[in-house]
Amino acid sequence: MAELAPRDDVRQDVLFHYASGTLPAGAALAVAGHLAFDAKARAFVADCESLGGTLLEEEKAAPLSQNLLADTLARLDQAEDPAKTPGDPRLPPALRHLVPGRLEDLPWKRRKKGLWDVTLSSVKGDTLRLLKVEGGVKVPRHTHGGMELTLVLEGAYHDGHQRYAKGDLQLADPTLDHQPMAEAGPTCLCLVATSQPVRFTGRLAPVLNSFFRY
Ligand code: ZN
Repeated sequence: MAELAPRDDVRQDVLFHYASGTLPAGAALAVAGHLAFDAKARAFVADCESLGGTLLEEEKAAPLSQNLLADTLARLDQAEDPAKTPGDPRLPPALRHLVPGRLEDLPWKRRKKGLWDVTLSSVKGDTLRLLKVEGGVKVPRHTHGGMELTLVLEGAYHDGHQRYAKGDLQLADPTLDHQPMAEAGPTCLCLVATSQPVRFTGRLAPVLNSFFRY
């Protein structure tokens, strides 16, 4: 079995569910993107698949965006050449079909000064979005209705004592209340998958919770 970093059992759990096909579609897409950056995670997923991850078949998530997901997984298997894959080069090849054209052309919504997002797909709470945060800007404090996976595509951010940089995947769940902040410097671009809407918990929470369904 390929080894991951020590104390990485939560991520290991997510990768195992990914290999078993039991993650919600949005989360599976975020993991698919992460695999492009992390050879150890790829090896771990390959090991899970060869061990027969279908043991978890009965837990299979609703196929909300199943075509999108199947398309992505097929692309991963083809081991595409980043230079030859059409689409925005800031996205891993397996995810470029999610964005027609360039990232700048997407209908970004400005949420506060220095923070924009755009939803790529959303079905019954299973949502995938891109988030763009200028250096030094904080994401509004929030907790989670379900699972949240954040894949860093450009730049970096801090959450407590932890730093997440390009290719890193952060996992969050209803036990975490946090306020990530983009690192000073280039704008931080992330792909964020949530299985349920987040709930804002900071000073402006009542306003944010009534206006935004994240
Ligand atoms: Zn969060």
